[in-house]
Amino acid sequence: MLLLEEEKRKLVEGLWGKGIKDENVLKAIYDIHRERFISNALRKFAYDDNALPIVCTQTISQPFTVAYMTQVLAIKPGDKILEIGTGSGYQAAVLCKLGATVYSVERIEKLYENASVLLPELGFEVNLKLDDGTLGWEENAPFDKIIVTAGAPDVPHHLVEQLNIGGKLVIPVGDQQTQRLLEITRTETGIEKKFYDYFKFVPLIGAEGWKA
Ligand code: SAM
Repeated sequence: MLLLEEEKRKLVEGLWGKGIKDENVLKAIYDIHRERFISNALRKFAYDDNALPIVCTQTISQPFTVAYMTQVLAIKPGDKILEIGTGSGYQAAVLCKLGATVYSVERIEKLYENASVLLPELGFEVNLKLDDGTLGWEENAPFDKIIVTAGAPDVPHHLVEQLNIGGKLVIPVGDQQTQRLLEITRTETGIEKKFYDYFKFVPLIGAEGWKA
């Protein structure tokens, strides 16, 4: 069995080979103990570059997906970020590690409760809320960046409205089989769109997402 450091090194080298060149993102992925975000039974797969099941039929995203979206967001220390879809809390931990102030919304109570215990235990200070994230987090808006970690049928307008001017939203948009990652930048006069690769996420369910 490989040592933990060796497994982490292989994962990070693999991500670099797949196009993740942001050293800070790679370091955050290396430093965070992904095995703490999954069940004991799956710990041997913690540093494989795969999504893994967590409770309530949800997933912890593939490390490549986490790294890719985080690289697109180009996080700077002090950025105020809203994440929709806390899930295991892993993506929120990566954002925290990069020095961002993180707000994260989850719609499933059990996942919200688990993350509320785990993140502080691991030393990550994340503001968590149990709610429909398609509505954003109005009381704490505006945000410098917003990341949606579930697949949406369209871009929720509340999220665009809760961005700062110059702020960025990254969101996978498509049908329930595949989604294309979309970056939206809010400008003085409207929005600019940029399209990235295709991914497969669990559905974003809510008032401005898929119906439950
Ligand atoms: N970011 C997570 C992580 O690092 O483990 C992965 C998230 S998982 C791919 C997507 C999450 O989005 C699920 O936990 C799901 O319950 C949540 N979700 C789906 N629709 C949502 C909504 N409207 N508001 C908040 N969370 C939502």
